[in-house]
Amino acid sequence: MLGSGQALGVLEQAMRAALTCAGARLLEAVLAGQDGYCGPRAGCGHGHQAAYGGVRDKTVITVPGPVTLHRAWYHCAECRHGFAPRDQQLGVAGATRSPGLAEMTALAGAEVSFARAAGLLAGLAGITLSARTIERSAEASGAASRAAGAAGAAAIRAREIVPLPPREPVPDMLYVEVDGTGVPVRASETEGRQGNDGDARAGTREVKLARLLTVSRLDDDGRPVMDTGSSSYAFTFDGKDAFAGLAEAEYLRRGGEHFRQVVALGDGAAWICYPDIGIADLIPVPLLSRGSTMPAWCKAVSVMRPGII
Ligand SMILES: [Zn+2]
Repeated sequence: MLGSGQALGVLEQAMRAALTCAGARLLEAVLAGQDGYCGPRAGCGHGHQAAYGGVRDKTVITVPGPVTLHRAWYHCAECRHGFAPRDQQLGVAGATRSPGLAEMTALAGAEVSFARAAGLLAGLAGITLSARTIERSAEASGAASRAAGAAGAAAIRAREIVPLPPREPVPDMLYVEVDGTGVPVRASETEGRQGNDGDARAGTREVKLARLLTVSRLDDDGRPVMDTGSSSYAFTFDGKDAFAGLAEAEYLRRGGEHFRQVVALGDGAAWICYPDIGIADLIPVPLLSRGSTMPAWCKAVSVMRPGII
């Protein structure tokens, strides 16, 4: 049977299909141990007590395949709304795909087109999803990620989260590179937005981004050398105010206040006015670009903390 040269591949595919099918049944059996029942009444989340209304099944698509969940169902008479606490526990409230599958979908959808992602998931994982489904799932994951990032940044800026100081020895310099660039998007993404040439609709959306990196030493020619693996990023499509908050939070998260010197690099665009990017305690100082490590298209602006210069 294995003599044809391709038969092993067929066997591998068949084995994977059998294993994933068995995995789905096993997962279903594990999850059947609980249905989320929490007594005859449960809080609905809006200040009422919802009444238990029996068990309702729901099918969720997981990494190994569709799995049926048995969930205790509650109904709130005031809200006229039903819910299953088990859905919340498993991260599938209002969703038909599991968190694991949503993550795989988001990873594939972020790398290639949604149509190609559908092909990759089918070929590499044996999961069949339409391009439209991948699009919806990836965009929901992206929205959730963006909201989580914004909430984390707000907590850092409000000092509700206090990042640890940078590990010793603290690198000598922290660089903050800031720029914006147009990202080609589909027509539906530019609905109602004006293009640069006036009447024409925009064909791109601008992402504003900052890269933070550290420098601890100079090379033989006296040029700063980036510390390997020291880059981190803040970025958003949501305009300069949102960007300013994210950039400031990333600066604080990196322990920017602990560095001997912080240098911001930008091309002088009107929105790149350094106090406005939200990095506190900094003032802009013009810097001679000679000897700078910036790309040639950049004009240099150095930003240092008052009193350091
Ligand atoms: Zn209610």
